[in-house]
Amino acid sequence: MDAAHDHLVEMLSRLKLTAIRDQLDSLIDEAGRRELTIREALGLFCEREIARKDERRIEMSIGLARFPFVRDLSGFDFAAQPSIDKSQIRELATGRFIANGEAVLLLGPPGVGKTHLAVALGREAITTGYTVLFVSAPTLVAQLAKAHGEGRLEERLTHFSKPKLLIVDELGYLPFEPDAAHLFFQLVSRRYERGSILVTSNRAVGEWGQVFGDAVVATAILDRLLHHSHVITIRGDSFRLREKRRSGLLQKPTAPPQSQSAT
Ligand code: ADP
Ligand code: MG
Repeated sequence: MDAAHDHLVEMLSRLKLTAIRDQLDSLIDEAGRRELTIREALGLFCEREIARKDERRIEMSIGLARFPFVRDLSGFDFAAQPSIDKSQIRELATGRFIANGEAVLLLGPPGVGKTHLAVALGREAITTGYTVLFVSAPTLVAQLAKAHGEGRLEERLTHFSKPKLLIVDELGYLPFEPDAAHLFFQLVSRRYERGSILVTSNRAVGEWGQVFGDAVVATAILDRLLHHSHVITIRGDSFRLREKRRSGLLQKPTAPPQSQSAT
């Protein structure tokens, strides 16, 4: 009995069926208790194994995606942000835009939840089975420029073209160097209609010429990004400041600064 058990555990290890191996006794008990047929029991064992493998894959992909923080859609307060169409976000969460190679632009002032939504949509994409990479625009451009200087641009472009969804956060917070705009253009062209790109920006599309420091390159980039795209413009003030105001830590923005010592 013990030898047979050890042999079974060994085989499960060799087949990398680690969930079945680790839960073997409780799974066998459960199958007995529920009076499962052998076929049903086998089904139960496989389900557990698949659940564990999915969990592992998702954990690993989330690590590889390099999100700046942990956020999900269930943690997003849509009531606090009426300028966002919840059904549009839900549609994006299905990942269909990735299957179709479409772009997403999340535009709005600081603090309105652009990065939160970008991360949340990235997590949804991973759960659906897509590969995701999150990078801030300044980091992306710095890495491309460095690789360009070292004669390894091709390699870097390939690196950033591989994930099915590339999230580029905070485009426009810093203006681009003229060279950088062209490097970014090369990346966008490379990914165009092959993978999806999600960009967050505090600047309206009309100001991107200034961001890129080159109206011609900006137009070429926008041409590709806007061709098949979902543009979400978020209005309103910073969620964080609003929360503080609500809890009484800050006065209303219209209140004169002197009134702060009152009460
Ligand atoms: P942005 O990228 O637009 O500057 P963030 O996404 O970083 O803003 O949001 C700032 C902080 O406020 C984050 O911690 C985010 O989770 C939170 N936040 C913003 N909007 C919401 C919201 N509608 N519901 C819940 N949390 C929010
Ligand atoms: Mg942000």
